Amino acid sequence: MILLLTVFVPTGVLAIISVFAQQRESAFLLTEARENAAIVAQALMSRIENAILAEEGKVRRDANIFCPEEATTVRLSEFISEITKQHTIVSAPIMVTEEGVVLYPPSPFGGVEARIPTRPFSAEWEQEDVELQRRLTEARIRLSRIARGGVDTEEALRDCLEILREIENAELRALARFQIAKLLLSRQDKEAARKELLEVFSAPPDAISEGVPLSAEARLLYLEQKFAAKEEAGRILKEAYANSVEHPEKFANYETFERLLERIDKLISIYEIQMDDDFKRLKMIRESIEETVERIARVQGDFLPIFREYLLAPDNYSQRDCHIRRQVGAKTRTFTYFSLSQRVSVKGKKVRTVFAYALNQSHLEEIIRTITTNPGIQTDMAINFIIGGKVTNTVGDKRNILPELLVSTIETPNPLPPITCEVYSSHIRSMIGWMFGRSLINSCLVSLLIIVSGLGVLVLLRGIRREIEFVKMRSQFISSVTHELKTPLTSIRMLAETIQLGRITEQKRLLEYMEVIAAESERLSRLITNVLDFARLEEGKKEYSFDVVDLREVARQAVAVFAYYVHYAGFTIDFSLPQKPVFVWGDKESLEQVALNLLSNAIKYSGTDKWVKISVLSEEKNGVVEVEDHGIGIPENEIEAIFERFHRSSATAGTHRTGTGIGLSLVKSIVKAHNGIIEVDSELGKGSIFRVLLPLYEEKRDGEGSGSRRRTVNSDGDERQPTNGRLRSGYSD
Ligand code: ADP
Repeated sequence: MILLLTVFVPTGVLAIISVFAQQRESAFLLTEARENAAIVAQALMSRIENAILAEEGKVRRDANIFCPEEATTVRLSEFISEITKQHTIVSAPIMVTEEGVVLYPPSPFGGVEARIPTRPFSAEWEQEDVELQRRLTEARIRLSRIARGGVDTEEALRDCLEILREIENAELRALARFQIAKLLLSRQDKEAARKELLEVFSAPPDAISEGVPLSAEARLLYLEQKFAAKEEAGRILKEAYANSVEHPEKFANYETFERLLERIDKLISIYEIQMDDDFKRLKMIRESIEETVERIARVQGDFLPIFREYLLAPDNYSQRDCHIRRQVGAKTRTFTYFSLSQRVSVKGKKVRTVFAYALNQSHLEEIIRTITTNPGIQTDMAINFIIGGKVTNTVGDKRNILPELLVSTIETPNPLPPITCEVYSSHIRSMIGWMFGRSLINSCLVSLLIIVSGLGVLVLLRGIRREIEFVKMRSQFISSVTHELKTPLTSIRMLAETIQLGRITEQKRLLEYMEVIAAESERLSRLITNVLDFARLEEGKKEYSFDVVDLREVARQAVAVFAYYVHYAGFTIDFSLPQKPVFVWGDKESLEQVALNLLSNAIKYSGTDKWVKISVLSEEKNGVVEVEDHGIGIPENEIEAIFERFHRSSATAGTHRTGTGIGLSLVKSIVKAHNGIIEVDSELGKGSIFRVLLPLYEEKRDGEGSGSRRRTVNSDGDERQPTNGRLRSGYSD
């Protein structure tokens, strides 16, 4: 049991570790496959994101509102929150137009606090528009530099004239003329300046965003230069006054408005203009404006937090599609945008409208389609692009769109429009199949490993045990050999000494003693021959000298050796020999050794019935030497074992029969070298028969007995298989 545990527990642990390691490896491979597919899809998504960003990059980033329908409210609220962070004033409704996001302060003077362009929606449109915008912006910058007085008069004049030649924009043209007038005045060219100022008056104020303040300013400059007579001055002043108070929202702020009105007041007194009803009406409007400004300043504190809260609540918006027509060169183009609108209501009072124009879904779909037209993805893959829960585009093999093959989901990051990309890969299926197969093979291999290593260890342990037993037996053998040698030597010495001392006078006794000495010497020499032969056999050095041998001779020789036992120990040795010689091809001495060992064992293991029989006979193709006794017998299960070196049967234990356990192992080797077999028939307590069967010598057989009849082979020299396979019970080789 302990043996089994020591063998199977470590291998079992090893197997578990290996299965665990394999599971880890499988999980790792699966993750890797998933990641690979995801990387491919990620690359596509990046290209889509880049395409969106590329367009976004052309305008100011904080102005981009990507609002696919389903996400508009969220995006807008984020956008507004961003704006409210950047522009602390946010005091008024926000207008998002095709021009840009415009924040109005809550002042009747209007004035753009922040103007952020929204993204262009068509690359083509954008190209043309950008060029136009660039030229307008450039002109505006040049004019504002001139206005600040930072440019040489002549150069400034050239610039303004160029703008007049090239630019069609009414507002910029008016601004340029106003600057020309001022420059001409600085050159004292009053007449030309007057004409230019009159031109500015004539520009329709509504056509230009700064028209009102500009035309009012031009009128005031005209009067300040005393270009008008008193009567004309009254009319011009009234016009400037009306322009200002009727359109206060056109002014950038209240301060500009007030400064202009102060200049009007001053001119009224300079020209000593009488206040008629018109003037009185305008004055009343002006006072109401001042009142409004004060009131707004008061409510502003209450108004702002509520308004901010409102702006940040996405539910407060409704949406609709809207179209914007725009003149591009000679063509009129229509752009479709997405619009958000909601009346902002503060304390039940409608205040302003919030508008937002944004990208619509079809534009995003178009971007995805463009990027994925030729996606170059692996054939095992399929990718779904989803906007607002709706699959808008699928690339790759549509058959792979199965829930179990979904390997990854990728989403566009904020603030890009939310696009979801689902990646499917059939590779995962084969991967799982492959891993299952692998795990099966591995499990089988691991089981095999457990069995093989378990058996290996068992065999090893058995070998070790046998080796230990053998070592024990060998030491036992040495002590028994010593003992075996000592016994005859002692009796020889004792008898010899007795004779030497001359104590034996009787001739018959003396002869008897001499016979014992001879028998013991013979026993001693047999023992020594056995030990030496055993050593030779162990080393593989025993040599046989083959010749034709008559088995009868062999038997006779053996019996002669034991004559002493017949005469003095009361043994009967029955002797049965055939008339004809029984020839075998063999080593005579070795065969005699076989007969002697068998006969000596028969005598040694005899009980009270001191009867032994040795027979020689021919049986079919074999010569047989048979040794029979009526002795102690051999337990059936030990018959094979007694031929093993050092083995002594359990029946001998406690019988004082000494021995070395090498006799029968020698017999076995010799018989084997003669291509013979041994049969044992034994019954415990009744006796045993040992039969040695050797192939009969045939005169005409090739290679044996012809030419040189003698031949020597070593202990391993097996010539042929036994011709007779009979085995009653016992050993055969
Ligand atoms: P040894 O006789 O020196 O012990 P052997 O190799 O000659 O060694 O015999 C091996 C064993 O076989 C003996 O120890 C004995 O137990 C058993 N044996 C051999 N011959 C006989 C026999 N004729 N009768 C009973 N037992 C025998």
